[in-house]
Amino acid sequence: MKNLLGGKGANLAEMTNIGLPVPPGLIITTEACRDFSAQGQAFPKGMEEQVCEGITVLEEMLGRKFGDEQDPLLVSVRSGAPISMPGMMDTVLNLGLNDLTVEALAAGTGNERFALDCYRRFINMFGEVVMGVDHHKFEKLLENHKEKAGVYFDNQLPAKEWRKVVADYKSLILKETGKTFPQSPMEQLFMAVHAVFNSWNNDRAIVYRKINKIPDDLGTAVNVQAMVFGNIGNDSGTGVAFTRNPSTGEKKLYGEYLINAQGEDVVAGIRTPQPIDALEQDMPQVYKQFAGICSLLEQHYRNMQDIEFTIERGKLWMLQTRNGKRTAQAAIKIAVDMVDEGLITRDEAILRVEPGQLDQLLHRRIDPGAKLDIIAKGLPASPGAASGSVVFDADLAEKMGQEGKKVILVSTETTPDDIHGIVAAQGILTSRGGMTSHAAVVARGMGKPCVCGCEALRIDYHKHLFEVAGLVIKQGDIISVDGATGNVILGTVPMLDPVLSPEFRLLLEWADQVRTLGVRANAETPEDALKSREFGAAGIGLTRTEHMFMAQDRLPIVQEMILATSAAERNIALDKLLPMQQGDFYGILKAMDGLPVTIRLLDPPLHEFLPNMEDLMVEITTLRLSNGDREELRRKEDLLRKVRALHEANPMLGHRGCRLGITFPEVYAMQARAIFNATAQLVKEGCQPVPEVEIPLVIDKNELSSLREMVTGVVGEVMKAAGVEFHYTVGTMIEIPRAALLADEIASYADFFSFGTNDLTQTTLGFSRDDAEGKFMQAYLDQKILTDNPFMVLDRKGVGKLMKIAVELGRKTSPGLLIGICGEHGGDPSSIEFCHSIGLDFVSCSPFRVPIARLAAAQAAV
Ligand code: PEP
Ligand code: MG
Repeated sequence: MKNLLGGKGANLAEMTNIGLPVPPGLIITTEACRDFSAQGQAFPKGMEEQVCEGITVLEEMLGRKFGDEQDPLLVSVRSGAPISMPGMMDTVLNLGLNDLTVEALAAGTGNERFALDCYRRFINMFGEVVMGVDHHKFEKLLENHKEKAGVYFDNQLPAKEWRKVVADYKSLILKETGKTFPQSPMEQLFMAVHAVFNSWNNDRAIVYRKINKIPDDLGTAVNVQAMVFGNIGNDSGTGVAFTRNPSTGEKKLYGEYLINAQGEDVVAGIRTPQPIDALEQDMPQVYKQFAGICSLLEQHYRNMQDIEFTIERGKLWMLQTRNGKRTAQAAIKIAVDMVDEGLITRDEAILRVEPGQLDQLLHRRIDPGAKLDIIAKGLPASPGAASGSVVFDADLAEKMGQEGKKVILVSTETTPDDIHGIVAAQGILTSRGGMTSHAAVVARGMGKPCVCGCEALRIDYHKHLFEVAGLVIKQGDIISVDGATGNVILGTVPMLDPVLSPEFRLLLEWADQVRTLGVRANAETPEDALKSREFGAAGIGLTRTEHMFMAQDRLPIVQEMILATSAAERNIALDKLLPMQQGDFYGILKAMDGLPVTIRLLDPPLHEFLPNMEDLMVEITTLRLSNGDREELRRKEDLLRKVRALHEANPMLGHRGCRLGITFPEVYAMQARAIFNATAQLVKEGCQPVPEVEIPLVIDKNELSSLREMVTGVVGEVMKAAGVEFHYTVGTMIEIPRAALLADEIASYADFFSFGTNDLTQTTLGFSRDDAEGKFMQAYLDQKILTDNPFMVLDRKGVGKLMKIAVELGRKTSPGLLIGICGEHGGDPSSIEFCHSIGLDFVSCSPFRVPIARLAAAQAAV
């Protein structure tokens, strides 16, 4: 019932049903929150009466009364969205305390200091969350009192000091808001519910939803629950634990707790807590019960759980359970282990791992053999390594991130308000807080390296520096963090390519058994081809030959070819390029021996290979003004004339793709000859090359028929000259709407289709793929005109519709037509699902995304 009760509420209800110790309470539904927002922040009709009735039931169950001067009922008020948004929304604890009930709590527990501690926490939280007073102002008052009393920790303050803190807090609220702190528990309750509803739309919740693609209209539920106290003495405490390690997936209770502490103390990272193992010594009975409940909850939910608990005078209470967030490494290990344990099926294991998350494991890691200048060590909170400039402020991190700079966000602790800085940073380093602190949880969720609780760091925010191990590291200095070891390293570090763990390989094998969609890679070099083979690619879906033209030693010859004024001149340059290209194709076909390799003939506009016009003009002007070498000047002027002549206003819609093959057939013929010479050579060597020649940017069958004829002519010549026969195919890219609409005609001349969805998106939407993102895309996303960037996530509605038409028309002409996709979307999980649904044969993506595509293709098929 998560949609109605929120994740927290639904699980509390479930835990109550299976008989676990959960403090009783009531839940205000997400429906009420949605009504509240729709009605301009007014509670829906009847809600208040129902809440009052619920409180009466609670009072009867517990034999305590709201506002009672003998034995008062106190409650916590906590948000709970249908999809967990840790730390993003508001919580108020100890609600129901006022100047009278606090005395009753003191008398009832025989602990005045405790009662006052609860009261000041309540006023602080309520003042902040409900009445909008800045948290730091409360902190400052508390610091003043501690200083005056000469103590360091909060729990060293005696009762009489707490009374002064309470009085100061109340005055602060009056001064800041002009309102007195409310004394009526019912008034407190409804004000708190109001605030929790509103917190659904606070800035950090909005940012979090945007990053995590959570719909804005779900709303939050509100959980009102009887308080239990972890701060009542040394036989009490509070903690959070995961049933398995959320970083590595190891099957071992993992978490931490604080003795004599309340609620958010652990996750807020204010005091560094004790590891959960220590509870076994501190309170063996409680630990045993807790461990039993953890394993029961895992069995019940058949998933790793993230649990919050409180111990009140030696009695254990469960405050929350939910499926725990985890790194990709942990997600894989847990899924595979749970299949082993008989808890879930293989199909479920496949669905348990978020394909996009695998990116984390396909990144580079620190070379274990490297000599590192380690300057500090903290807790290894989120694996991976990153280097960047030290930044102490989330806003600056965001700004530098937008400028394309790599930064490491360094902070004593992070709060949900820092979320934008964490998004922008390469890695996070904190000096306080444990493995479940905000920074650690958020970083793990985002797959960013994080080292936390690095207590040796002395951060000076005013001077923008930190000191450690006798060193001073200033803002802008480069450091590296290794979230797998907790090491903080001076400078950058050498990195290694990733390797797949045995569990990862196993999960991918299971994925391969269920998927029907093939996965190939886009690659131009034998090294990339081999890498993609290792990652499980079934072939190369796109070799962009222009990348081979860009090599430094080739460029002059390519320029010679472009600038030639006659076919004879051009042929001289092409003769030089032929053996080079042949070598390229030989390498890649050999690396993929036995597997298909789609080789695309030259695609980009020719002027991309020529010098920049502005640079040339500067050089010419300098030569003229300095009376430089006349010969050189004439040569440059001549070059400029030619570059100018090739200049196009709209090069992406200009002289490119197969249009080059139509106007300069000798260029395509050279490439075809190079491909087939390499094929013949490999066949003679006993290999099994499978070349697929691909013609780009086709709009009509007539282009393809003439270029196909040219290719076939070359093949005939090569086979005859080499005295060998081999198999080859000729196909086309579908990347212009006209091609999609005329796919039935085009299919008569194509052995295969491959959707070039980069260009197809560009031409269907009329958005320049080179400019849209920098200019107007964000506005389209912010205003929800488009839900996703169509260059990253396939636009199913428009581009997808054209693809569907092309598949249907193409296969009408040629029923078994091989069809794939090789645009960027071929590596995007949601686009892969679409490709599966319209019956494509394969997706092709960058080598490092091949494992992601294998898993996503399996998820589409499960
Ligand atoms: C495409 O357009 O999707 C494609 C794969 O080709 P390129 O990105 O090289 O234009
Ligand atoms: Mg293209």
